[in-house]
Amino acid sequence: MVLPIVLYGDAVLRKKASEILQWNSELKILIDNMFETMYQAKGVGLAAPQIGKSLRVFVIDARPFAEDEPEDSEAYRQLVDFKKVFINAQCTELSGELWNFNEGCLSIPKIREDVQRPSQIRMQYRDEHWNLHEDTFSGIQARIIQHEYDHIEGTLFTDRISPFKRKLLEGKLKAISKGIVDADYKLKRPRKS
Ligand SMILES: [Zn+2]
Repeated sequence: MVLPIVLYGDAVLRKKASEILQWNSELKILIDNMFETMYQAKGVGLAAPQIGKSLRVFVIDARPFAEDEPEDSEAYRQLVDFKKVFINAQCTELSGELWNFNEGCLSIPKIREDVQRPSQIRMQYRDEHWNLHEDTFSGIQARIIQHEYDHIEGTLFTDRISPFKRKLLEGKLKAISKGIVDADYKLKRPRKS
């Protein structure tokens, strides 16, 4: 089922999300719905707070990014099969050089900005079968993970740009928080008061 995506300004995006205590069929349905919602919105990642659930789970499928890379490149291989579920993710280490990448977010339609982040992240997490992993990711994989991990910590990419750039976006962000924005996917707009 495709779910509406919560917009910038909704309090759920600012909460530190709760741990998931156990695997159950409800969790499986949530994960399936999150993938369906992400694909329909043409995103490469989606975190549970973005569909209004303050839970520590996010899904990623980087295949759309692979389509921008030559098929025989390392970047293509890194991205084409990078489909993953992260449950109760904890970042255990950030390392590598800081680099800029142009980010966007399904909860902040039509805004993109360069964001500086470290090139590597080490994560402990459970997969959709409740198996525990600890892996290091780099490059665009690490980038997508850091963006989604921020969501379960209540952080948005617009928090990570310079105060000057944020000031320039103020009007647009305010409009989004009032629901005044278009997207070609289903949005959960705030109720008019
Ligand atoms: Zn996002």
